[in-house]
Amino acid sequence: MLKLDYEMKNNLTISAARKGLASGEFSSFELTKYYLDKIEQNVDLNAFVTIDREKSLLAAQKADKEIAGGTDLPLLGIPIAIKDLFCTNGIRTTACSKMLYDFVPRYESTVTQNLLNDGAVFLGKTNMDEFAMGSANITSCFGPCFLPFRKKSNPTSKLVPGGSSGGSASSVASDLCVAATASDTGGSIRQPASFSGLVGIKPTYGLCSRWGMISFASSFDQAGPITKTVEDAGIMLKSMAGFDPKDSTSANTNIPDYQKCLGRPIKGLKIGIVAEFMDGLSQENLELIERACSWLKDNGCEIIDLSLRTIPYALPAYYIIAPAEASSNLARYDGVRYGYRADGCKTVDELFVKSRSEGFGEEVKRRIMTGTYVLSAGCYDAYYLKALKIREIINIDLQTNAFSKVDAILLITTTRTAFSIEESNNMTPIEMYLSDVFTVTANIAGLPGISIPVGLSDDGLPMGVQLIGNKFQEEILFRIAYVLEKCANFRELKKSILVEDTVYNE
Ligand code: GLN
Repeated sequence: MLKLDYEMKNNLTISAARKGLASGEFSSFELTKYYLDKIEQNVDLNAFVTIDREKSLLAAQKADKEIAGGTDLPLLGIPIAIKDLFCTNGIRTTACSKMLYDFVPRYESTVTQNLLNDGAVFLGKTNMDEFAMGSANITSCFGPCFLPFRKKSNPTSKLVPGGSSGGSASSVASDLCVAATASDTGGSIRQPASFSGLVGIKPTYGLCSRWGMISFASSFDQAGPITKTVEDAGIMLKSMAGFDPKDSTSANTNIPDYQKCLGRPIKGLKIGIVAEFMDGLSQENLELIERACSWLKDNGCEIIDLSLRTIPYALPAYYIIAPAEASSNLARYDGVRYGYRADGCKTVDELFVKSRSEGFGEEVKRRIMTGTYVLSAGCYDAYYLKALKIREIINIDLQTNAFSKVDAILLITTTRTAFSIEESNNMTPIEMYLSDVFTVTANIAGLPGISIPVGLSDDGLPMGVQLIGNKFQEEILFRIAYVLEKCANFRELKKSILVEDTVYNE
């Protein structure tokens, strides 16, 4: 039986697990078994969609042998969870779509291979919005996924962890794993991290290989981690990132040791506050940003007011370009080569139509239709081409009016805290899309963005702030995030969150 104290049990970080494994306090097998049992006890959260207990335990045993033999790898023996968007060799990968319900890849995505090379043990695949399209994890073919905590004002209503990487966020927040991988096309790492009181970083486009990641919108998709601390995010990202000749958009750049840069003074760094990101913020959000600004000032940063007039166009441009790319990427699911195939079709046309009608869910179909429309001959110039131009203008605006003056931009991660399942089900698609208003800019411009939990709402729910940096400036983001994390002392704040007894069992 694994002996962990309460804090270790519910807050085990990569760095703490590494120490525990090295000192022989526990083995990887014990830790992996502990998590697998805890996942079983918490199936109601619906955080995992595929588990291979035997495989995970075998990997843990192998890690234990390596540890005993003196091997030292950054993630050796650490149990982590994988978003079901990453192809895992021999383990079902569905993107939480009926279309790929039985798909078992015969290859490993580069990101997961990098993690395996660094010794990580995979616990299973996590729930997500279908093909990563959504902001609440309610479009999964496996059903919604939930957070382990509740609103103070409505303790009976279940909360969703945000999306699309909801299962990854929920599994880390419920401590069903040490850390998790996620992906971010328009906010799917940062929004769930913010809802769940966790750290999430979407790196610069090109830092993590997209090879073996099921595509949604290829010019935006990026992998990144969701973790309990900034330090863990640094460790995970270092492992996940790296040049990959199999991805033509992969960046051939040196990946710094992010962990080592933590704690370096941030004195003299310039932080931008963009007027357009502050427009119409709730009182709670305004106060959170003000508090973060004063912490940064206390640490010697200079706060600089900026205006970026193109920012309001980021969301509309995203919701044109992303569906356009999705409609093209998802054209491959035609019922012929792989994926779901409808029964009893007499013609090829019927096979295409029925397979796609039955295999895709509502939201995915909506994106395919929107994307097909904006790419159609009569609409291409008016929508798709215009959106591409807007994307370029936003890039120029950010470089000339922000990053020539500041090292990073500070803004809120999300307009609201975690939604209840009822609220999510009642939201219109547009209302759901609007919840990405603060996250899409980083994707539009290919910039790194990190969300750090720094406060609790009046209703007792986690609130995150976001930092956006210039390309390949992750190190600066980690250094600032580390300071914010210390000042906020979220680990302490977290103790007052209303949690379900089943999750944090004694
Ligand atoms: N919520 C956004 C969307 O639905 C972003 C999704 C994502 O980042 N994968 O498009």
